[in-house]
Amino acid sequence: MYKNAAVGEDILCFTAKARLQVLPTKYNLALWYPAHHHPHCIMHSGHQLESVAHVVNGCTMYKGLYIARHDRLVDLISSNVKEVSLENVTMYKHSRIMPEWFNSSFDVFCNIPNTPDVVFLNRDRREVLLLVIGCVFDLYMEMAFNDKILKYQPILEILRDLGYQCKLIVFTFGSLGHVHNRVFSGLRLAGLSSRKSKQLAKFCSISAVRERVRREDGRTDNGSACTTQLYVYNCFYC
Ligand SMILES: [Zn+2]
Repeated sequence: MYKNAAVGEDILCFTAKARLQVLPTKYNLALWYPAHHHPHCIMHSGHQLESVAHVVNGCTMYKGLYIARHDRLVDLISSNVKEVSLENVTMYKHSRIMPEWFNSSFDVFCNIPNTPDVVFLNRDRREVLLLVIGCVFDLYMEMAFNDKILKYQPILEILRDLGYQCKLIVFTFGSLGHVHNRVFSGLRLAGLSSRKSKQLAKFCSISAVRERVRREDGRTDNGSACTTQLYVYNCFYC
């Protein structure tokens, strides 16, 4: 992140503060000035603490932005893998795994997690590649990686029972620009060159949500952020 020329000074400043947990979130403001602030997110009626993790990953008001980033990462990675795939490979995105893809009349995939982000299916070679992309707060990347690996074990077993060779690759990215240490090897395993894998991992690390936050009256905020959230979305996500 700090060596990346594509990252502007304002984003670097925000990221450094967020990683050091010194952003002026409501939670921090309540610690510093307890007489003047409460620690809760002002975007909800519920009492959720407005921590750094909440702002960049957990606020329901901005769920759409988090999902947009996730979907953009899915598009980026899947299009790069598709480029190096064989011609007879079919790609499915954002879909649950369907039994008819494998000529199964019975839905063997019901009642288990069956929605990896991308499926590459080579019917001739009977090979399946499952890609799962996760975006989490940076501290939880290892936990999220392990959770996803475990989550999709049942579907791997079923696919193997159906006679397919399967690979599951999990890519985990942090909200503050960290990339999980298995992303590079995952991209290599998916068929990308070493150079391309390195480039793509670096690009994904800064492909934060780019939508600009609009104020309630519909105007795009000009940077004079009055709340931490607006600061975040003007500095980090644009
Ligand atoms: Zn919130």
